[in-house]
Amino acid sequence: MKRWNGWGDVHIHYPLPDVGIDYLRAQLGPLEARADVSMDAILATMPDSRLPDHPLIDIAPETRLRHARGQSLPDWVALNYGRIEAFPDGVAFPNGADDVRELLGLARTRGIRVIPYGGGTSVVGHINPLPGARPTLTLSMEKLNRLLELDEVSRLATFEAGVTGPSLEAQLKAHGYTLGHFPQSFEYSTLGGWIATRSSGQQSYYYGRIEQLFAGGRVETPRGPLELPPFPASATGPDVREMILGSEGRMGLITRAQVRVRPIPKAEGFYGIFFPTWEQGVAAVRGIAQNGIPVSMLRLSNPQETETSLLISGKSWLKLADRGLRLMGQGDQRCLLIFGVTGSAAHVRRTRGAVKSFCRSFRGFYVGAMVGRTWEKNRFRSAYLRNTLWRHGVAVDTLETALPWSQVEAAAQAIPRSIVDAAAAFGERVLVMTHLSHIYRDGASIYVTYLFRRCADPDELLARWRAMKGAASHAIQAHGGAISHQHGVGTDHAAYLLAEKGELGMAAIRSLCQTFDPDGIMNPGKLIL
Ligand SMILES: Cc1cc2nc3c(=O)[nH]c(=O)nc-3n(C[C@H](O)[C@H](O)[C@H](O)COP(=O)(O)OP(=O)(O)OC[C@H]3O[C@@H](n4cnc5c(N)ncnc54)[C@H](O)[C@@H]3O)c2cc1C
Repeated sequence: MKRWNGWGDVHIHYPLPDVGIDYLRAQLGPLEARADVSMDAILATMPDSRLPDHPLIDIAPETRLRHARGQSLPDWVALNYGRIEAFPDGVAFPNGADDVRELLGLARTRGIRVIPYGGGTSVVGHINPLPGARPTLTLSMEKLNRLLELDEVSRLATFEAGVTGPSLEAQLKAHGYTLGHFPQSFEYSTLGGWIATRSSGQQSYYYGRIEQLFAGGRVETPRGPLELPPFPASATGPDVREMILGSEGRMGLITRAQVRVRPIPKAEGFYGIFFPTWEQGVAAVRGIAQNGIPVSMLRLSNPQETETSLLISGKSWLKLADRGLRLMGQGDQRCLLIFGVTGSAAHVRRTRGAVKSFCRSFRGFYVGAMVGRTWEKNRFRSAYLRNTLWRHGVAVDTLETALPWSQVEAAAQAIPRSIVDAAAAFGERVLVMTHLSHIYRDGASIYVTYLFRRCADPDELLARWRAMKGAASHAIQAHGGAISHQHGVGTDHAAYLLAEKGELGMAAIRSLCQTFDPDGIMNPGKLIL
């Protein structure tokens, strides 16, 4: 069963070794475990539903609570401190497009706000009902989870859009195919959610971002259905399919999607290389991308992230490796690159060799497959560490951007510094780690994880978060970065969108939403204010 106030399955735990806790104490100061509010306490104060009775709508308080918030830090604060300002008035579980149409019709005639809900893994406030006089219906796509058609000639698979990552891959695997879209939230996030947020998988360097994988589909809008035929390419004016990408539930519900699939690769491996400094690591990954070395993933951690991962992993062989690296002159400034190669066995061998020899020019030291295998094993599990940290009194947030190479190094310094300075204004210390998570020929995505102490007062905790997040967002925009590379806009980034799109761009987005949703019932308050 899914945790209602944390990440993932209640039976899965990610323990933190004592050495890791000591390290966090040394970084952040004394830690205090804090008791969280119980589900019963929240249910006892939940207001009654304002929705009419309907066979497809569940108004049970626990169902409403379980769909009230996503996975952002403010969401965790709301759930765990019992500060949820609005609940959905009900949750509907349609069985198909006909049900979706019926529910949208009901919403339109009764002025009900509708929130499309995939896996609820949003980290920027996408699926949170906002307070207001109009009732809110959350529309969960949970039951729309089937593979409908597999066109093996075109390598196009048609899925219902509520399918989660594991279910989608299992249904494709039965036919020998994969989509290869692996966000860290893979376990719970859905195809429709990926499209609606312009998601990026960990191996998008090879498989493509969801923009490249999403070929077409069908959207139920309040104005009626919208068909998006799956053209391999087209010169027929502006692309309506592109308009649905990143629509964040504002234009309608994606009920089915055609995606570009590939045969399951014969071989795949993940490997580690240490660089003595961040600058050498950055120059190496830029070179790999710009020289077209065909890897499937590049993930370069900065010195702080490298050090922290080594320290809190608790793995004995890593301690040995640490000693060895230090003896070889790779000290506190070292950076770990994990790279992946996917394809035939010969391709994996050749490409691994090419990366190793290319990185040697940047004093990269190849450490083999062990570190890569550990990353691979934990690629979806490390998200569970957040539950453990929270219990120990540590709050965690992540943010990310994408910028041109000319800005990457300056931004990678400025963003963490802005967070540290903002925390210092509250007399707090913060542990900030970054990595380059996605690499392009013209730039990279910087992914930032920051850890700081929880406090007893949720308003104070949110004020600290707002200060750090705001400072980082301004640093991102000051360096010409996108306010998000993969998480989307939701509520948390909406105020920053104008600076990126401009007045005219915002007007165009607004009029698009209005075209599909003239009454403004679809997920109001998200994406555009
Ligand atoms: C631990 C963790 C790790 C993460 N890692 C990644 C990562 O590696 N890469 C990445 O890109 N993101 C990541 N995310 C963010 C999140 O998982 C993505 O934004 C994901 O695409 C959301 O999918 P979902 O199905 O959970 O959508 P939800 O959270 O349910 O919804 C997100 C938005 O999409 C809309 N939506 C959902 N389904 C539909 C539909 N069928 N039709 C229309 N609109 C719809 C909703 O209305 C909402 O606006 C991570 C999140 C967490 C918590």
